[in-house]
Amino acid sequence: MICTLCKRPQQYGGLCPTCTTDTLEYLGRLPHLWAELEDWLIPGIRGGAQYGGRVRMAEAPLPLDEEALTLRAAGGIVGVLEDWHDAVRESRGLAVPARAGSLAHRVRAASAGLAGHVHFIVQWEQGAQLAREVRQLVGRVRRVTEPGHELDEPKPPTFLGYCVAVDPSGVVCGSRIYADIRKAVQCEWCLCVYPPDRWLALRHLQPSNQAAADDLQAAAA
Ligand SMILES: [Zn+2]
Ligand SMILES: [Zn+2]
Repeated sequence: MICTLCKRPQQYGGLCPTCTTDTLEYLGRLPHLWAELEDWLIPGIRGGAQYGGRVRMAEAPLPLDEEALTLRAAGGIVGVLEDWHDAVRESRGLAVPARAGSLAHRVRAASAGLAGHVHFIVQWEQGAQLAREVRQLVGRVRRVTEPGHELDEPKPPTFLGYCVAVDPSGVVCGSRIYADIRKAVQCEWCLCVYPPDRWLALRHLQPSNQAAADDLQAAAA
């Protein structure tokens, strides 16, 4: 089985624990991020602090940030979250709540509502798309509030080869092994560890993977 979002191998279907935790974290942050965007709605406010809190009137006001406006509007962050919250509740046979109150309240209600259904979302066939859109919202806010510090999009994992560990009865494990520079690469099934200096050896031990091993060696040379 692979995670429906990051495509890393795992024992069960649906979202992996990492993608689930990330999604919950993003849902928890979105109400704050939505509030932060207010500073980008008012022309001129961004330069305010560095002049002792006063906006220099001689300078032309900064243009309104249209992306901030879009994200803050009813169809932006709040709309995406509410549409998903409605969809989750509908597919669970629950009543869809009325969209009432201030936008700030609605962002909080929809993100908390979605977080409350996380165990359903993990296994839901639309869970990966939901998680992807939540991550994209956080990325879009960051591009406004922290230009140059975009959320690192996780890259698809690089397939290293099949696990070559042999169990006491002589059976080769054969599970798929993926490169990951952030942590020790370990076979999900037999727990055999593949540190980076063994990746090339793993490639060489693949019966059908000689060409890939040559590529890797050429790239490393
Ligand atoms: Zn995942
Ligand atoms: Zn293995």
